[in-house]
Amino acid sequence: MRKLIMILLLAVSAVATAQEVICHRGYWDTEGSAQNSLRSLVKADSIGAWGSEFDVWMTADGVLVVNHDATFEGVTIETSKWKQLKNMHLKNGELLPTLEQMLECGKLLKTRLIVEMKPHTNREHELEAARKIVKMVKRMGLEDRVEYITFSYQGMKNLKELAPDGTPVYYLNGELPPSQLNELGVAGIDYSIRVMREHPQWIDEAHELGMKVNVWTVNSDRDMQWCINYGVDFITTNDPERLQQLLKNE
Ligand code: MG
Repeated sequence: MRKLIMILLLAVSAVATAQEVICHRGYWDTEGSAQNSLRSLVKADSIGAWGSEFDVWMTADGVLVVNHDATFEGVTIETSKWKQLKNMHLKNGELLPTLEQMLECGKLLKTRLIVEMKPHTNREHELEAARKIVKMVKRMGLEDRVEYITFSYQGMKNLKELAPDGTPVYYLNGELPPSQLNELGVAGIDYSIRVMREHPQWIDEAHELGMKVNVWTVNSDRDMQWCINYGVDFITTNDPERLQQLLKNE
């Protein structure tokens, strides 16, 4: 009897832990794409990825720009004007996209939009960026399609406060156990595979608190399988099709 209950419990937990694929900086490692491009968002959607992540900075004159690094071709985004950046091209030939363009594109798709607000050097500027991002998402009618992630502790608190109740906000920096973040009402942890391998107990801890776990950037079969076996909720990867294949084999 006890064995039967255990089997049932395992079956229930297996059902409860549907695992989702998030494309890291979009699905960029494929023909015609580039990191953080509009095309990478479309490609992520085209393979049915649950979500597609991209990075956001704000220029000195308040334009929200999608790019990973603080600089683009030597121009520091947060201290430059948009006119210094707007004619620059990504590796696939697209113009450097704004957040507005990314959201407009995302609006036509199904994949969830995982918006990473980058930690700006100037904290006031970062607060303004958070305000503008949340406002733009609202204006475009995308509040139920967007999740926020950030390395900035203050930024996480700001996004939590500014976004509508229930909007998922995740913390990326990796130094805090889920219990400390739970007090702030964030949705969960979104930590690197290195951090999670050092603290695998944080997965159960988060789940027991009703929080989710996302892990990045999971690219090798070995790391993907580790996340799958540990019941990680969201796996952020540069190789989404490989991850989909492994999940299908489960
Ligand atoms: Mg990112």
